[in-house]
Amino acid sequence: MATQTDVVAITQVTHTDNEDNEEKMEGNIHPVFASLNADIALCSKDNTTFRIHSHILIVASGWFRTMFTLPQGTACTSEALQMEEDADVLAGLLTIVSGVDLPVLNNIDYLESLLRAAEKYDMPLPTAIVRLAIMSPVMEASPIRVYGIACRMGWIPEAKLASTRTLTLDLFAPEAVAELNRLEAPHLTKLLALHRQRRDRFIAGMDDDSSSPIACPACATPAAARREYMDMEELATVLGARCSHKECQKMHYDRALTMRNIVRIVEELPRCVEFPD
Ligand SMILES: [Zn+2]
Repeated sequence: MATQTDVVAITQVTHTDNEDNEEKMEGNIHPVFASLNADIALCSKDNTTFRIHSHILIVASGWFRTMFTLPQGTACTSEALQMEEDADVLAGLLTIVSGVDLPVLNNIDYLESLLRAAEKYDMPLPTAIVRLAIMSPVMEASPIRVYGIACRMGWIPEAKLASTRTLTLDLFAPEAVAELNRLEAPHLTKLLALHRQRRDRFIAGMDDDSSSPIACPACATPAAARREYMDMEELATVLGARCSHKECQKMHYDRALTMRNIVRIVEELPRCVEFPD
């Protein structure tokens, strides 16, 4: 933790030296972080300056806390601290930790940038807010992407819920494949295993289902319909199938019983990835 002396020393250095730098900072100062009473200035990658009180950063960020406790001359220079993040990301972090506002959190690219910066600067509050935001119903993001972020962060409830939200996706669709390619290998394997397990257990359940005849129940003519049906169109075809024996023509399936059995089989399928306790 920086001592009061450290902070005062940083303040003095920041505000008294290097007039050129002061002029540059005046050129593009973020309007929310323009206070002349602030003792630290951060400059974004795209050259916007944020003036902020160092005590806010010391409380909110392990990274800044460490930096401010380093010996003078090592920890800071007379210039604004040059940051690697762009102004939008810095503004998001600083509005959160300053308690002045919340940034708009409905874009997954922005959220991920914010999260990476929050991790880098060891800022628990922005990280916690991103954790809430990625599960928001107004977040327009692929559940595969959300799943990947949650897995990487070790957010298990969010990873499980996001994996459930992938169940309606076709993982072989191009946009899904693009998202799958972003996943780390263990997380990808886990998600593919979930989808595969559901398919295998569904087929196994149907095979065990006495309402799915492999032959006509009336005349024992082999049933022509496939039993591994997976989509509604094929299901409707199968449930309407009649015996191919021209003098029989009986329905192969008891439609109501079969539907009840299918619902039961589907309800018993795993719905999310599992993690070790
Ligand atoms: Zn028949």
